[in-house]
Amino acid sequence: MYLYNSLSHQKELFVPNDPNLVKMYTCGPTVYHYAHIGNLRTYIMEDVLEKSLRYLGYPVKRVMNITDVGHLSSDADTGEDKMIKGAKREHKTVMEIAKYYTDAFFADCDKLNIKRPDVVEPATNCIAEYIHMVQTLLDKGKAYLAGGNVYFDTSTLEQYYVFNDHDEEDLAVGVREGVEEDTNKRNRNDFVLWFTKSKFEDQALKWDSPWGVGYPGWHIECSCISIKHLGESLDIHCGGIDNAFPHHTNEIAQSESYLGHKWCNYWFHVHHLNTDSGKMSKSKGEFLTVSLLEQKGYDPMVYRLFCLQSHYRRNLVFSWENLDNAAQAYDKLIARIATLKKEGEVDEAALAKLKERFVNALNADLNTSLAVTAIYDVLKAKCSDATKLAAIRDFDRVLSLNLISAAEALARKQAEEEAASADPEIDALVAARTEAKKAKNFAEADRIREELKARGIEIMDTPQGAKWRKL
Ligand code: AMP
Ligand code: ZN
Repeated sequence: MYLYNSLSHQKELFVPNDPNLVKMYTCGPTVYHYAHIGNLRTYIMEDVLEKSLRYLGYPVKRVMNITDVGHLSSDADTGEDKMIKGAKREHKTVMEIAKYYTDAFFADCDKLNIKRPDVVEPATNCIAEYIHMVQTLLDKGKAYLAGGNVYFDTSTLEQYYVFNDHDEEDLAVGVREGVEEDTNKRNRNDFVLWFTKSKFEDQALKWDSPWGVGYPGWHIECSCISIKHLGESLDIHCGGIDNAFPHHTNEIAQSESYLGHKWCNYWFHVHHLNTDSGKMSKSKGEFLTVSLLEQKGYDPMVYRLFCLQSHYRRNLVFSWENLDNAAQAYDKLIARIATLKKEGEVDEAALAKLKERFVNALNADLNTSLAVTAIYDVLKAKCSDATKLAAIRDFDRVLSLNLISAAEALARKQAEEEAASADPEIDALVAARTEAKKAKNFAEADRIREELKARGIEIMDTPQGAKWRKL
């Protein structure tokens, strides 16, 4: 599989350290609010990556953190602490907020067929690991104490900016507006590993440490949780493009300084979902959620298809019109799959050929839109329906669009409607009512309507004549 690696700034053949276990880490959500559909774009594409690797035959162990402590808007001790902000907004404790929005996040993931990672670790579970890493960095001369906080010393690094080919705009997102300069820092890029002196005196969650009572900095959780569950070498690390700087840059700085060797080989970054007015963001307060899409009548699978139709390394613009196009495409696709019959033999040679196109699409830097096109190729192919169904079922192990179950549900519904409309006795009664109306015998027409109603049948008078349905 060829994947674009943000570290080398090019597409590379993916070669895991151990082909018997791909070690994959994903930055998880900050659980102070619902995930917006932009966040979920990132999780959908990471889900497709994981499933593609499994489909291609690699066993995968995937780990994800849940940021349930801290996470300031900037690296300096400024900006808002997101968890406290959420707790204040909803008059709840930080842990109540974390529990509520963690559950909400996984409920959204379920709706979108995003598989739960093998290990999900809340940041508050690993305080001992953070303290150990910070102490080791201090012992190695890679960190220093200033003003009560522990800082990472970026001047000890040969290279700090490793992802410097990203859009300036994307890079700038990590360093938000209104950042005051932290005078404790020796170098501009130094960042906090452990806070004891924070402007957030009301910080709810604090732990004892060798440097005083405090709480971890923004980045340390991902380094420690990854090393705790996946060991000293990581194959692939994922996140949204805004995570590249400063979050992932700082993760690399501290992890490699702690370990004394290279840490992660491949960095997979998903570009943003934007609206007409710019990047979708939780901190702006107004954002789209999966529940909102459902309220407006969209199947979450339509949003998943919408994401798969574009490449993960391109910004994607959300509009209702674009989503409607995806909804139409999804309905048409399901309707076509629903016409396939289960009869016939699976032609293994034809199936292998169909799969080849699909695999090639995945191998080409996860070209999901081409992978979706491979379904249409299947529908057009000259082979048995059984072969086509086998191919579609197989592709859906990666695409997870409910292609087979939605088509089966549609076929069932259509069959029910057909069976219902093929009731000659009801048809005869409806026809008799039409005749009665024509003869202006309204009493008889009403009597028939009532008789049908008693049998649970409703008559609807349409321009095409009287139709009926079961109530
Ligand atoms: P957060 O919950 O804010 O920590 O973000 C969760 C994930 O969503 C991270 O991987 C972010 O990089 C990613 N993300 C944030 N905003 C967007 C967006 N507009 N489009 C796509 N991914 C995003
Ligand atoms: Zn992270």
